[in-house]
Amino acid sequence: MNRTAGEFRELYGYSPEGVWAAPGRVNLIGEHTDYNDGFALPFALPQRTEVAAARRTDGILRLHSADVRAGVLTLDAAGLDPARPPRGADAWAGYPAGVAWALLEAGLPADLTGGADLHVRSEVPTGAGLSSSAALEVATALALTGLHGLTPPSPELAALARRAENAYVGVPCGVMDQMASACATEGHALRLDTRTLEQRHIPFDCAAAGLGLLVVDTRVRHALADGAYAERRATCHRAAAALGLPALRDLPYAGLEEALSRLADPVARRRVRHVVTENERVLRVEESLRAGRLREAGPLLSAGHASLREDYEVSCPELDLAVATAEAAGAYGARMTGGGFGGSALALIDAEAEAEVTRAVTDAFVRAGFRPPRVTAAAPAAGADRIL
Ligand code: ADP
Ligand code: MG
Repeated sequence: MNRTAGEFRELYGYSPEGVWAAPGRVNLIGEHTDYNDGFALPFALPQRTEVAAARRTDGILRLHSADVRAGVLTLDAAGLDPARPPRGADAWAGYPAGVAWALLEAGLPADLTGGADLHVRSEVPTGAGLSSSAALEVATALALTGLHGLTPPSPELAALARRAENAYVGVPCGVMDQMASACATEGHALRLDTRTLEQRHIPFDCAAAGLGLLVVDTRVRHALADGAYAERRATCHRAAAALGLPALRDLPYAGLEEALSRLADPVARRRVRHVVTENERVLRVEESLRAGRLREAGPLLSAGHASLREDYEVSCPELDLAVATAEAAGAYGARMTGGGFGGSALALIDAEAEAEVTRAVTDAFVRAGFRPPRVTAAAPAAGADRIL
């Protein structure tokens, strides 16, 4: 039997009606573009979060995770309130409770107020920039709708999951993570237009091209992260307004220099330059993947990292070291992935160089006095689905 289902049965004393799974993600390119209505190109990881679930009829929502030190949290399904999310050791439960709240708010044609029992188990490391939060939200959204025989379109589920994180958990994230987890397909990267939610599945079969992808989890998350994110977001929105644009997405690459000359603040100029060049890099990486020239994506990834480090200023010494060492060890390209200030880096390498690059990065961290990173091979995997 599926392990998550077995644990559900031990915990609640009866079998779940099903198990739903949603993956973590890595963003290949297109960082800090999603709150600027721009483009991103994430892919789903093989690591997933599973949610075993069953309906109740008494209005109670019970939540439990194998991955946190907290007991079963019991909530009133009809009384979920974004002003009073679970706190302390139960704070994790804000993600699934927020999803239940967002589904109820959306008025889906099913009686979710009947309640449910949920048990969560995940392979996605938390806080590593690999979007364990979106995996948890999307798996929960699939479970709660699936229990009632509903199968909303994946972009709709992703939008609801994001609403849960924004409005209930209180994290002002864009929609990329949830879209990647909900909509990605195996062997493909997901080219996302975060304004229209249009998605294109771009073939990205590294193995067939003799290539590999390494994810380097630095295992650090610097305290600056949340405040810096909010500040970058605000700067971008102010700059777009100053340029008379709805969003920085509307500034074409060809018009960048002229637009920069109209911005007085040097910090805003750097932030705008990152966003506009990053959108352009997404389109160019997409082109190279479509043409089957995967190695050509490498230098674009590295240019993306330089832009995040110099112009957007969201990197950190651990991420810079991971990227520089991977490049020196022969990677075609490497970059930080996710919001920054820690989390993970991604490297595009020759498949046969996996052990060598892993060793080089690990040794460099030891020499620098950093905690050893967690290095894993990745390949574009499938998006969320019912698995039992
Ligand atoms: P990331 O999404 O990069 O992993 P976040 O800070 O956005 O980092 O989300 C991590 C949080 O999501 C955790 O601190 C926890 O509250 C919640 N979470 C994610 N996965 C699980 C899980 N399997 N069980 C319980 N909580 C989880
Ligand atoms: Mg997250």
